[in-house]
Order: sequence, then C-alpha cells, then structure tokens
Amino acid sequence: MTDKQENIAPTKMPKLRRRGWTIARRMAQIFFLVLFPLPILVAGAGWNLFGLSVGGDVRIFTPAELPFYGSLSSSYLSVDAFRLELLDPFAVLQVTLASKSFSLDWLIFALPIFAFYLIIRGRVFCGWICPANLILEITDFLRRVFKIKIKERTIPRKAKIIVAGVVLVVSAILSIPLFEIFSPISAGNKLVLYGSTAGVVTLLAIIITELFWSHRVWCRALCPLGGFYQLIGRLGLFNVRISQKECIHCDKCKDKCLADPMILDPALEDKAKAVLAGDCMLCGACVDVCPTKALKIRPGLDHFKPVK
Ligand code: SF4
Ligand code: SF4
Repeated sequence: MTDKQENIAPTKMPKLRRRGWTIARRMAQIFFLVLFPLPILVAGAGWNLFGLSVGGDVRIFTPAELPFYGSLSSSYLSVDAFRLELLDPFAVLQVTLASKSFSLDWLIFALPIFAFYLIIRGRVFCGWICPANLILEITDFLRRVFKIKIKERTIPRKAKIIVAGVVLVVSAILSIPLFEIFSPISAGNKLVLYGSTAGVVTLLAIIITELFWSHRVWCRALCPLGGFYQLIGRLGLFNVRISQKECIHCDKCKDKCLADPMILDPALEDKAKAVLAGDCMLCGACVDVCPTKALKIRPGLDHFKPVK
C-alpha cells in the first residue's frame, strides 16, 4: 500500500448512494427496454405479429392511433395537435445512402437526437439506453456467476468507427440500410412485428461471443452505432472528472470500466482533468466504485485546457 493509500480513508456512504449512478442507469435501461415493446403488447394484438396476419372482424388498433409508437431507429409521440417524430441519425445516413435520395424531413427528425448526444455525450446512448448493452451486462454477470473463463482479446476500440464506415459504404453499394437489417437493437420488436429473425440471430451470436470468447467485444470494438457515437463523444459537455488530491491509484475504476479501462489512464496519470475519450458512455461505474470519491460526473468545458 502506498503512503497516499494509507493517508486517504475510503469515503463512508450509504450503499444506495454509493451505487447511485448504477441504480439510475439500470432504471433508465429497464425503462427503454419496456418503452418500445409496450405499445405492441398493450394494443398490438391483432397486428401482423410474427409476420402473420390475424384478420377477422375484431377491431384492431393501428400504430397511427397510438400516442407513442416506434423503435430506437424511428418513433413518434402524438398528442392531439402535437406530433414529434424522431429518427436515429445513423439510420438516416444508411437510408440516405441506400436510397440515393435525400429528404429534409429525415434531417429534421434526426436533428434532435443528434443534438442531444452531441451536447450530453455520444455514447450515453450505449450506456443508458441501448437494450443490447443491458443484455450483454446480464450475460457478463451470468458468465461470472457460472465461472466461465475466457481470454481478454484486445480488439482496438476504434475498430467500431471503421465498422461504421464499412456499414455506410456497403449500404450505398447494395442499396440496403445494412445495420438496420442486422442490428441486435430492437431485434425483439422486429421479430414480433415482421417475423424478421436477422436481429435476433445477431444478438445470439453476440451473446455467445460474450459468454465464451471475449468480454464486451461487441460494445467495445464492433458495434457500428457505438462507433458513430464515439466519433462525436469527445465533444460532450458531461465528463468524468478526477480530483488528483483524492485519487489513491487503486485502479478499481479501471476494473469496472464498461468502455475500455485504458480511457481512464490520461486522467489517472494527471495528463487530463477528465476522461476525454469519445468512448466513455458516462455509465458512472467508475464513479460508484471509487473508494475515495475522486471521480465525479460534472458538466463543463474547462477540462479541455491542458493540465498545468
Ligand atoms: S480514481 Fe480510480 S484509481 Fe483513483 S482512487 Fe478512485 S478508483 Fe482508485
Ligand atoms: S470511464 Fe467511467 S463513466 Fe466512462 S465508460 Fe468507463 S466506467 Fe463508465
């Protein structure tokens, strides 16, 4: 134990407060996991479920009659005269390239989502909203419970930016929005509504990879949507900030990092005031586990100034 580790006592806090970010994030993940399938479960019986038409005389709600409907790629909220349509910007890019056409509406509907992640931090989507991430966190937990041993593979985290580029190029060449078809995100919705199994197959392949091959390889290195948000992640206003006075260099934060432990190094080595990497998903796991509360999630831009 270093002198600093002996001198700074771990911060005593009630357990719930110590796990505050993790609890808030779980609630958000569960909310978004339920939000999109809910209209299908509540009002959707009788639609083209599993690709089969039910038909008959029974009164069937249509999506247009629901106040909220959609998926993480495309959704709307409609109450009386108010109507808000939202599109995933990466899906809009794929569809634009695949269809070789441009619609101003697509741009307008994608802009609020793009602006939100640009201002907050790109990969907040991965940490707080994406259901695939939640499923992979559960898979990781089960792997630990059942003591399934795997090697850590070090696929560079920037690989997912290249994957995002390849997806866009292939979408343009084949005239299909490639990731929208094979995406594990909203795979359940697509299976129930259209009988499409492509997303479920991708999700199963990712879960098997997570269980038996490598830890978090999909989210860390391969997901093109994660790569797209990584590109704008550095510009976000919210960051994990470090107080060097309180850090005892125990590395517990690195052990818990969902993105890539290496992204904490510049802050821990006093080369940066905050975790700057676009890969950080503001999951707060490092903040919760830090025994001295040296890490905090805070807004601001001063962290871009060099450390004196
Ligand atoms: S910031 Fe990381 S290395 Fe420093 S005390 Fe907290 S958990 Fe340990
Ligand atoms: S640096 Fe902290 S907040 Fe960012 S992804 Fe890693 S554990 Fe989560």
